Amino acid sequence: MSNKANNDKADSKKPKFNYYWIYGLILVGIIVMQLMPSQNTATSINQEKFLREMLTSGDVGDLVVVNRERVEVYLTEEALAKPIYEEVSKTPLMGRKNPGPHYTFSVGSIENFENRLADAKSKKIAALQQEVNKAGNSDTGKKLQKELESTSMLGPKYVTREDWLSNTIAWTLPFLILIAVWLFIMRRVSGGVGGGGGQIFNIGKSKATLFDKDSKVNVSFEDVAGLEEAKEEVMEIVDFLKNPQKYTALGGKIPKGCLLVGPPGTGKTLIAKAMAGEAQVPFFSISGSDFVELFVGVGASRVRDLFKQAREKAPCIVFIDEIDAIGRARGRNTVQGNDERENTLNQLLVEMDGFSSEKGVIILAASNRPDVLDSALLRPGRFDRQIGVDKPDLSGREKIFEVHIKPLTVVTDIDVKKLAEQTAGFAGADIANVCNEAALIAARRDKKQIDNQDFQDAIDRVLGGLEKKNKIIAPHEKEIIAYHEAGHAVSGWFLQHAHPLLKVTIIPRGTAALGYAQYVPKEQYLYNKDQLMDEICMTLGGRAAEEVIYGKVSTGAQNDLEKITKMCYAMVTIYGMNDKVGNVSFHDPQNEYGFQKPYSDETATMIDEEVRSIIDNAYERTKALLREKKEALETIAQELIKREVLFRADLVSLIGERPFSEPGTPKLSMNVQVDK
Ligand code: ADP
Ligand code: MG
Ligand code: ZN
Repeated sequence: MSNKANNDKADSKKPKFNYYWIYGLILVGIIVMQLMPSQNTATSINQEKFLREMLTSGDVGDLVVVNRERVEVYLTEEALAKPIYEEVSKTPLMGRKNPGPHYTFSVGSIENFENRLADAKSKKIAALQQEVNKAGNSDTGKKLQKELESTSMLGPKYVTREDWLSNTIAWTLPFLILIAVWLFIMRRVSGGVGGGGGQIFNIGKSKATLFDKDSKVNVSFEDVAGLEEAKEEVMEIVDFLKNPQKYTALGGKIPKGCLLVGPPGTGKTLIAKAMAGEAQVPFFSISGSDFVELFVGVGASRVRDLFKQAREKAPCIVFIDEIDAIGRARGRNTVQGNDERENTLNQLLVEMDGFSSEKGVIILAASNRPDVLDSALLRPGRFDRQIGVDKPDLSGREKIFEVHIKPLTVVTDIDVKKLAEQTAGFAGADIANVCNEAALIAARRDKKQIDNQDFQDAIDRVLGGLEKKNKIIAPHEKEIIAYHEAGHAVSGWFLQHAHPLLKVTIIPRGTAALGYAQYVPKEQYLYNKDQLMDEICMTLGGRAAEEVIYGKVSTGAQNDLEKITKMCYAMVTIYGMNDKVGNVSFHDPQNEYGFQKPYSDETATMIDEEVRSIIDNAYERTKALLREKKEALETIAQELIKREVLFRADLVSLIGERPFSEPGTPKLSMNVQVDK
């Protein structure tokens, strides 16, 4: 999307504060400290050597013990003149006389050092005393006498010295490292988008993007092909915000939330983006996963912040994309409970309760898994409206192709209709993908314009990828599926007690279904045998149609058969609806999977036989019905192949009104006859 590309560009132009500078500075600091000479220029010397050689030589003038851990040695004036001390007699930098200390060494234990020093001293003194005695009162004798005195005087002075620099480093370095680590973590968690040190302090702020008059959105409703109903409903929300009095005048309440539901890639996010552009009210957009963060409590505080911002901007719309990230049902998984997500969800529920829609905030959310959402989210007063965004039918796909072909350079005679026919089961995103692939393929072939062949190859390529994920229907299968679904529709149409049909389609639903027929369930808790039998016949209608038309059956009815088998066994063994088996019920919920059957082998055989005969009878009855109504079956199947979706009204115009009266059909219903 060009809009997104623009944003990215703007981002990269912004000067960014690079955190690696901090690591660099710390590293440089450490190196400098290592290289810097300590304040005194004393040469280090081994303690052993000092005690054995230097001390006994009589050259030592003074000893200073610093901080009880290091000894500094000052040489006498005379010693400094000796050539062996040349290296320490001058300061290394300026070359002046070195005032000392001249040598230094560290001591492990000061007591140990003192003992050894005293030892060495007394030995030296004893030796000197002998020599003095020997030399008598001569010149050497006097000199030795003096040395003896100075040696006995020699004792360490103790000083304590603050080493300012290394102390500072010792104190600050750990802190510096901690800060660096902290910055690093913060940067990682805050996602690294946008840059700037201020982000660290914004972790509890919501990351919603605000679209209003000043910000440009490049998506309009024209870019959303098909989905007319969804577009209308979405625009109605805007109307709620703009003219609330119109709706509340009669006492009605404006809905607070609205949920876009449909399989992935069908244009839910796209519709919301277009709405941001067209609504002309402030529009906050955020993704469910933006609430989720490493730190506890962040999600909830982001929700609070989002709603605070929204209230300030009211009237406005808040769009939460992929709400399943936070909206999953709570508390099922107690072992690995996700408290943080639950807190976030709870906060969202609280906020949605906390404002009335007269305040002018309406929440729009999108999800492709409405089944996993917490029921609290879906109950009235929260997301009380659902807008279905289904996979496109034939004409929808045609429109989507047109939208996505528009920006491409194509030859003039692109057969959009044919493309749409070949892409049954594709979602909008898949079609966008086909168009993009076609452009790439044409470019690789060095073409100036994209032609039909490129689109064909692109479809094949995308199909290859999709086949693994989704069921995509080949043309010959499409016909079988059409007859199968038409079989359900027609048999239901002419069976008095079957549920009234809402729509029938051969567009796969979700990832597994081949096609489905959707019925309006009656509000009913007690079924009589006739009703159950009609239900069974209608469920068998798919397979019966295949046999009536082709004389053979396919695997497409597996799901139907499972369903009626369960139903029939229930009729015979639980509801007592079979004359032979009689009024008995073997229903034992405690022993559902037990090996011990609560009836004899003969009864078991009887049950099996009865179930079999019920199903056989129903199947014969359905086949007879469909043979009788073969014309209707043909009409509907052919129309299904053409249009892929047929609604009630279409059936009425194709095969006439249902010969039975039926109650009004509510709009939202989910009783679906799915074929897997
Ligand atoms: P989702 O329903 O998963 O949020 P998106 O809205 O993200 O799907 O759709 C992905 C892409 O598919 C869109 O960006 C667009 O290019 C394309 N697309 C999907 N549906 C339509 C549509 N009805 N009209 C035009 N393009 C569509
Ligand atoms: Mg989406
Ligand atoms: Zn079926």
